[in-house]
Amino acid sequence: MAKLEPKAKVSDACASYADLDSLNDKLHPYVRNLANNTDFFSYYRLNLFNKECPFWNDENGLCGNIACAVTTLENEEDVPAIWRAKELSKLEGPKAQHPGRKQQRERQRPLLGELGESVGESCVVEYDDECDDRDYCVPEDESASAKGDYVSLADNPERFTGYAGEGAHHVWEAIYRENCFSKPVARKSSVAVPGLAAPLPAFSQNQAQAAMDFKQVMRQHDRQEAIRSGAPEEVLESEDECLEKRVFYRVISGMHASISTHLCYDYLNQTTGQWGPNLQCYKDRLHEYPERISNLYFNYAFLLRAVGKLRDYVQDYTFCTGDPVQDKQTKDMIRRLAGAIPSGPQIFDESVMFQDQTADGISLKEDFRNRFRNVSRIMDCVGCDKCRLWGKVQTNGFGTALKVLFEFGNGHAGEEKPLLRRTELVALINTLDKVSTALKALEQFRTMIAAELDGS
Ligand code: FAD
Repeated sequence: MAKLEPKAKVSDACASYADLDSLNDKLHPYVRNLANNTDFFSYYRLNLFNKECPFWNDENGLCGNIACAVTTLENEEDVPAIWRAKELSKLEGPKAQHPGRKQQRERQRPLLGELGESVGESCVVEYDDECDDRDYCVPEDESASAKGDYVSLADNPERFTGYAGEGAHHVWEAIYRENCFSKPVARKSSVAVPGLAAPLPAFSQNQAQAAMDFKQVMRQHDRQEAIRSGAPEEVLESEDECLEKRVFYRVISGMHASISTHLCYDYLNQTTGQWGPNLQCYKDRLHEYPERISNLYFNYAFLLRAVGKLRDYVQDYTFCTGDPVQDKQTKDMIRRLAGAIPSGPQIFDESVMFQDQTADGISLKEDFRNRFRNVSRIMDCVGCDKCRLWGKVQTNGFGTALKVLFEFGNGHAGEEKPLLRRTELVALINTLDKVSTALKALEQFRTMIAAELDGS
């Protein structure tokens, strides 16, 4: 097993582990504060309960533990007034309607500060849930007509839930399957999901075959991972696989590593009923797999680069919660965060990706985008509400980062500005918070391991 050297560069990124740790020391308090202590970034509206898994039917995979439950905001009074259904429906007057894609592009301005003449100034107008060509995710529709619930992310922390076994494995297998780029992209799947890459076997139709296929995918995956975990970073980078495909894998595996870190760090000891770090859980899932940890650092670099790129746009954003003092504070906080992230490609250089302008290169990008959209759809198959909530937030966060990095310019005059939905921006910041917090938890686990070695 290759050990991670703090001074080594994280493969496919531009910074070392030590650089990212020291940047995280500086930025972590800003990110935490923004994600947890502002109304704008701590409320998320999503369709958590009413979407069926589009790929298979697995009622046995549902989690009945209390820790899997999500507390939604049932009482409208708990939601900032500006986002209540009554207010949102007022915004759906003729001037504040969904502007249509052509108009959206022509305007080239963030929608967060949308004005509707007939209703006075309004700040929260979401697009409908139609996919924009440049989306890497299936959007969460925050409009009043959408079937959705408001959730306080701060009140539903990502932690151990007990969701495990076949159901959870099935979901991870389906996610890693999207990484098999060698399979052709099929525009229509056997389960009629538009944009689905290699069709997933419909579970109800041929369960045994599907289970076998999934197991094969995971066996192959485990073999590759074992080889990669023993390989030095420079060998990983020079593998005979294009950068874009590697990045896709790294994003997924890094997200999985972050989820594992959170559940091991905030673990329920079922004997004592106490919550706290579980060192054995960390050893089993992360310490033995440096490649997973490397992917987590990669994700940090990747997300930071995307948030840093918003530096040139946040001054135009209007963070409305109905409280002007808080709105200004929120804006100042995000400006400070984006401004503290190095502006050059010292952390991650997205400009080296998707450079091939031939038909092959263009279809690779489309393939990448479709596969990532499928990952976001797979989240509706997660059988634990809390895990589904954070799975959806994080796929949306990574999807938003991909959109910012690969679909918009560099802030030069005349270039297109990122049009982000409120849900995208909230997901991006909360995903950064999850990864940043996971890096801090890893530090604690390393200290616990060192203490254990000292004591032995
Ligand atoms: P799993 O984590 O299920 O992993 C399955 C297989 O994937 C492993 O055997 C290994 O081959 C491979 N693998 C594992 N980690 C990586 C990695 N980083 N990179 C590449 N390959 C890897 N549980 C909670 O307690 N709290 C949560 O909030 C939570 N959120 C979840 C969100 C989602 C979207 C999903 C699908 C599951 C979630 N779970 C959560 C369940 C959790 O992730 C595990 O599935 C569960 O704890 C069982 O773990 P396991 O040890 O069997 O391996």
